[in-house]
Parts: sequence; structure tokens; C-alpha cells
Amino acid sequence: MKTHYDVIVSGGGPAGIAAAAAAARCGADTLLLEKNAYVGGCAASGLPFLNFFSRKREQVIRGIGDELIRRMQDEKAALSHVLTQGGHVDSITMIDPEWMKIAAEELLLESGVKILYESFVCGTEVSGGALSSVLAANKAGLTKLFAKVFVDATGDADLVAFSGAGFDYGRESDHEAQAMSLVARVSNVDVERVSGAFPISPIVIAPLGSDRAYNVHVTGKLTPWNDVLRDMGLFDHDDHDFWGGTARDGELTYVNVTRVAHLDPTDPEEYTAANIEARRQLKGMMRFFNRYIRGMEKAYISSTPNGIGIRESRRLKGVYTLTEEDVLSGRRFPDAVARNGYCIDIHDPSGKKWGTKFIESENGSYDIPYRCLIPEAMDGLLVAGRAISATHEAQGSIRIMPACMATGQATGVAAALSAKAGCRPRDLDVAVLREALRRTDAVL
Ligand SMILES: Cc1cc2nc3c(=O)[nH]c(=O)nc-3n(C[C@H](O)[C@H](O)[C@H](O)COP(=O)(O)OP(=O)(O)OC[C@H]3O[C@@H](n4cnc5c(N)ncnc54)[C@H](O)[C@@H]3O)c2cc1C
Repeated sequence: MKTHYDVIVSGGGPAGIAAAAAAARCGADTLLLEKNAYVGGCAASGLPFLNFFSRKREQVIRGIGDELIRRMQDEKAALSHVLTQGGHVDSITMIDPEWMKIAAEELLLESGVKILYESFVCGTEVSGGALSSVLAANKAGLTKLFAKVFVDATGDADLVAFSGAGFDYGRESDHEAQAMSLVARVSNVDVERVSGAFPISPIVIAPLGSDRAYNVHVTGKLTPWNDVLRDMGLFDHDDHDFWGGTARDGELTYVNVTRVAHLDPTDPEEYTAANIEARRQLKGMMRFFNRYIRGMEKAYISSTPNGIGIRESRRLKGVYTLTEEDVLSGRRFPDAVARNGYCIDIHDPSGKKWGTKFIESENGSYDIPYRCLIPEAMDGLLVAGRAISATHEAQGSIRIMPACMATGQATGVAAALSAKAGCRPRDLDVAVLREALRRTDAVL
């Protein structure tokens, strides 16, 4: 097995896909290591891509994220970006998760990325203050792999943690992170009738393959069933939230209704407990749907993703840490490498509530500086996606998939340029990086 590369990206979720493709397209010999046998991460669970557009109806994220959506649209596997009115979401892009795996894989291969599936990065080696190799566990056993620059796109900042680069976890007050949720694809659903039960901010459009338009995104509260859910041993708080959306006729491509709190997904025992609890909730919720929600009488789970969805875990301690104030004030930075227009969206660590805070600035978006992707205390490493350097509150905004793809693209270009120049990522000329990013259709 070849062991030396210019750039190694660990984790093939939205951030890792963009990072690896961007690095390879900049001429870097690039390897992508992914622990599953497909790419996509959370995008492979059917969740919609939120907020390519800001509240001001401006497209603030393009680049590889947008290209991936176009590729799926070409296969009739994604709906268009739909601008919404009201609610906390400004644009929504429904996808078919199975086609996402195919389209993203093709995008990577055509970009020249080498992919290794079922390859879990389980260790790192540091030499002279820089990450020098990662250890991948797969059917060949343990293999040491070397690169000039590494990108940590594992979502959980695994490389950061293993190498001692420094990270934070959870909110400042008690170090508890956002609640987790196991989403499910639910089939045999009469979406039109379900929409009537959850009427918040309807988005009426025709799903793929459908001959009629109906509400493709279903948002609501389970308030009328507070007592039922309590009696069923499901949720001991009121007004539990329901989110669902459909890309295909006759199904909810994703249903997001479970919530698991107080468990750390980077602790193997707690992560296992979280998955078991989420499946218990899902089983109960399916019984509830069949009995109480019109249009779901005969619904069934057609698939669940590889594991419970993690909104927040470790976050890099970077050269700069993005704050709530930066997000809400729409702050601009001279070293901006991405923009984002999504609100702060936090599933409370208690597991009992959910809340948002909106960007207040005139232009409805803010910059993500390059320094948020660079570890304070490690060279040879950049971080992309939901684990970049941000406070618990700011992470509640940067964690959506289009933004993760934008920071992924930035790390990929930066890693390739550093590898080529033989310099540390932190020493890269930011003006050169920004110019290179603009050429890759990034919005800065
Ligand atoms: C329940 C839930 C609902 C959400 N809803 C939305 C939504 O509606 N719209 C939206 O835009 N965003 C949503 N998000 C947020 C978004 O999905 C994630 O924040 C985003 O996918 C993060 O992207 P990422 O690439 O950083 O990480 P992930 O998507 O987590 O991808 C990480 C990848 O790395 C791989 N990996 C992890 N560790 C290793 C390792 N050690 N070695 C090798 N591979 C590894 C994983 O298998 C995975 O493929 C939601 C998140 C959750 C959990």
C-alpha cells in the first residue's frame, strides 16, 4: 500500500469531501480516509442542506458544496435550493442520501482523490511540533500513513485529540455538548396529510418523481401529545420538536425526532449507550406515529444511518475562536476563507429544548477566518467542518453542511498550497489562499 502523500484528509463527511476534492484539484497527491464504506457522513442520512442562502436571499456558499448538489440534480436526486419564508431556515435543499453517496464518490474520483474505505484513523505521530503520520486501522491491520499536511474532517477532531493539538468540549458553563439525534428514513407516508399535523413554515414544492406539489419540509411541535409521550416513557418535557422532509414521493426522507443528552460521543461506552437509547426512542416514536399521526398509520423505518448523529463534540482550539458575537454581528475578517448565513441553532445539552438566535447584521451573513482552521499548538494540521475553532454557541451556526463544505474546501486548498510551497499552513500568504479559493468558486 502506498504510504506517502502530499495531503491526507481524515473523514469523508461534507467537510472531508470538499477538502479532499479541493486539495486534489489544486494538484496535491491526496488520500481520503473514511471509516465507513461510503462517503457522506451526516449527509448520507438524508438531512437537507440548509442555508446555501442567507436571510437576505444571497447565495453565500457555492463551490464544491453547490457542485455536489448540481450533480445530484442532474441525476434527479436532489431538489433545487428552495428559499423559505419564516422559521429559522432561509434555504433548504432536499437530497436523496443514497445518490449522495454515489455523486460524492464520483466527484472525488474525478478530482483525482484516492479513497480508502473502512479505514479508521486511530492514532497519530508528532515530530518537531508537526503532525507527521496517522495510523489507519483496516483489513490490512495498522498502517502508518505520511503526508506533508493533514486535514482533520472527522467531525470529532480525532486527529486533534490524538496528537494533543488542544480542544474544547461543550459549553463553557458545564462542558456539556448539544444533544444527539438518530434520524431515520421513513417510508409509506402520506406526506400531504402529515404536513397538516405540523403546519409550521410550509415549503410547498413537488418532490422528485411526484406528480403533485406538497409540503416537502415538515416542522412542528408534538404539543398535543405531551401526555402520550410522557406515558410512553419517551420524553418527560413538553412540546417536543418534529422535523422531517421529503425528496421522494411517499416517504419522509428524514425524520428527526429522537434526542439523547448527557452522553459524550467520543467516549466509546457512552457513544454505544447513546445509540441504544436512540433506537429505543425511535422504536417508541414509530409506534406513536402509527397510532397518532395521520398519514403515518402504515409508515415504517426503511433505513437509519451508520450511527447516531452528533451535532457537537470536540472543537479545535485554534489560532482564533469564532464567537457568538462574531456570528450575530455578521463580523467580517481580513483572513476570511468562507461565509455563512445560518442562525445559531442549539439543541440544548439538557435534551429538553431547542432554540435559535438570528444573525442581526444588515447583510445576514458572517465570515469564517482562516485562523479558525489552524490549531494553536500543532503544525502540519488543519481542521474542517463542525469541529473548527468556535465557541459552543458559534458552533451552533457553522455546523450546517454547506458551511462545513465551505471550510472543507478552504482547508483543502490551503493544505495543497502549503504542501506545494513546503511551508507550514499558518505561514501561508492569506491573500494567495483567498485568491485561489475565489478561483474555486468560493464566496468570500
Ligand atoms: C441530527 C442532526 C441533524 C442535523 N440537521 C442538519 C440539517 O438539517 N441540515 C444541515 O445542513 N446540517 C444538519 N446537521 C449538521 C450537519 O449534518 C453536521 O454538522 C455536518 O454533517 C458535519 O460535517 P462534517 O464533515 O464536519 O462531519 P460528519 O458529517 O460527522 O462527517 C465526519 C466523517 O468522518 C468519518 N470519521 C469520523 N471519525 C473518523 C476517523 N477517526 N477515521 C476515519 N473516518 C472518520 C465519519 O464516518 C464521517 O463520514 C445536523 C446534524 C445532526 C447530528
